[in-house]
Amino acid sequence: MHVAPAEAQDPIKINSERLSDRVLLTWACDYFQGTNMAVVVTQDGLVIIDTGLSPSTVRRQRDLVERELGRSDFRYLINTHMHNDHAFANEVFPEATVVGHGSAVVALQREVDLIPELIERLRGGRERYGEWAAATSPDSADGKQAREGVAAFDVGIADLEAGIETRFPTVTSGDHHTLSLGDVRLELFDFTGFHSDSDILILIPEERMLFTGDVFWGGNLPLLREMTAGEFQRLMDNWKTILETAPDLETIVPGHSDVPLTVDGFREMYEYLSRLWADVQAAREEGTPLVMFLMRNIFKERYPAVADYTYIRRDYNLHQHNIYMLWQLEDR
Ligand SMILES: [Zn+2]
Repeated sequence: MHVAPAEAQDPIKINSERLSDRVLLTWACDYFQGTNMAVVVTQDGLVIIDTGLSPSTVRRQRDLVERELGRSDFRYLINTHMHNDHAFANEVFPEATVVGHGSAVVALQREVDLIPELIERLRGGRERYGEWAAATSPDSADGKQAREGVAAFDVGIADLEAGIETRFPTVTSGDHHTLSLGDVRLELFDFTGFHSDSDILILIPEERMLFTGDVFWGGNLPLLREMTAGEFQRLMDNWKTILETAPDLETIVPGHSDVPLTVDGFREMYEYLSRLWADVQAAREEGTPLVMFLMRNIFKERYPAVADYTYIRRDYNLHQHNIYMLWQLEDR
């Protein structure tokens, strides 16, 4: 008699971890990358941070949260940014007020407009993972990841084909926004400039905890997007404010289950960029040509805090990219 393996019944495992008395983290899958969905317990209700791509999967995460916490008074839902894998399942919390970046509505609409292309991309992923699953043993780590991936792609594609109900933010956070919920306050900071045009970082000072969405990947140099000097200054100011507001920061929660990021890493990247910015400004004041600056600026010597970070991806030099981006900023 053929007995179906356990994962055939539940191919997408729903995981959770209690990060503190007040914060519960949930995500789907053990091997395949899941989106981190956090729940903050406050006197004035539950706050969700990010949902996911698939409403079917996030509905299961919601069930787990209700079972685990014994309550379902979802008050706010904050999206760290509006990428499909963080905001498409917002419909699972219809009672919660959705909070996002000032550009969040436009950013989410853009993601919605791209759903046909997204489905095509997911189908491509499904195909590759299907081949990988066929070539690997179900008991190996690769085989498990491949099979989880197949299941996750299948659920995502089915949900998108059935049609998702978009829930746009009705509260936008501006440069800096405080959500006070009785015993807990959440500090939301505009943090665009790296990953997307709708990133916010969420600090819970009482918990010494910071949510960074997809902005950072520990051990990899952050990559600046094109922006104005004012936007860059706001980014650095907010970064500094976070570090000063929470000198005792303990926990960083990134946007996905497999992203490495430590408090030290968060501080090191700030040191790197503020030093690089000072170096660029000094060179420009002295009239140093860009090519000369590039020649003299030895990454590993000049920026010891991040000397062991990955700064070349394939053949692209991330550090040089950051220099180009900063060089073209207008003086304040
Ligand atoms: Zn993202």
